[in-house]
Amino acid sequence: AQIAFKEVAQKPAITSDKREIKVMANIGSIADAKVAVNAGAEGVGLLRSEFLYFHRHTPPSEEEQLQIYEAIASTISPHPLIIRTLDIGGDKPISYLHSALETNPFLGWRGIRFSLDYPDLLKIQLRAILRTTHQHKIKVMFPMVASITEIRAAKKILATAQAELRQAGILFDETMAVGIMIEVPAAVICADKLAAEVDFFSIGTNDLSQYVMASDRTNPKVANLADAFAPAVLRSIAQTVQIAHNAGIWVGVCGELASHSNAVPILVGLGVDELSVNAAAIPAIKTAISQLTMAQAEAIATAVLQLDSAAAVREYLEIQIMKPK
Ligand code: PEP
Ligand code: MG
Repeated sequence: AQIAFKEVAQKPAITSDKREIKVMANIGSIADAKVAVNAGAEGVGLLRSEFLYFHRHTPPSEEEQLQIYEAIASTISPHPLIIRTLDIGGDKPISYLHSALETNPFLGWRGIRFSLDYPDLLKIQLRAILRTTHQHKIKVMFPMVASITEIRAAKKILATAQAELRQAGILFDETMAVGIMIEVPAAVICADKLAAEVDFFSIGTNDLSQYVMASDRTNPKVANLADAFAPAVLRSIAQTVQIAHNAGIWVGVCGELASHSNAVPILVGLGVDELSVNAAAIPAIKTAISQLTMAQAEAIATAVLQLDSAAAVREYLEIQIMKPK
């Protein structure tokens, strides 16, 4: 069984009626990249770039970042790499950059909000990312976007970085795709406007769950409410996918929900194009995809959107899995 599992892991994930779903990995280091490839990842759907900024006293230089992005891109080559710009704040403070004490850190100065207040820091990261595109397949995405104004401001800084590189004769891919994380309810509500600004969406169900349910995922009294299987979260995902597809862009899910094999029928049934998961979950996720038809997945997705609670969704999914196919 172990060998069969390994064989599945190295093949593309295709439903039994031939719909291919990309299965990528979430990573946060160079070492993770190797593990992801061995586990069968078809690329990296989320590189959490925070690790570059941890355990030091000053931010990493453009050259340092370039070297690390190139090392990761080479490790996963020929597969693509999505680099997420710095997402500090919330549960990820970096003392030399972010010293603000906040009453509500998760509602505070984090992700793109922080980066837009330090445009030079963001520009250095974007220059390093752009330079990596000369030799490798790279996409960029911005975290915690809550408004159209923010993505436009971030794209402006990207345009400045591109102009500087052009002027200096440094080569990069002019067509690099730009995406955003969908992890704030405002982004779901205004997804049509955001879709007009970017090439793809990646749904971050960890933050989306805590914000949709208004429950701090680190507070044990309420953390169980921040459940990605909650119908309100699943409806937010459904709405996002529909709006993205209407606008002609693709959607991935990179939150923890995508790493649950029980959630695969829901996400595939809702039309998600790509799942980015923990490396260890890849064989199980690919197996779950191969055992589905689109019609089954769509029926399950439609049914769970009408249930009353996360508990009811989990119970329904358990019963579906036990049913003979
Ligand atoms: C998420 O919020 O779902 C996500 C993938 O981002 P992070 O867990 O890094 O906040
Ligand atoms: Mg997040």
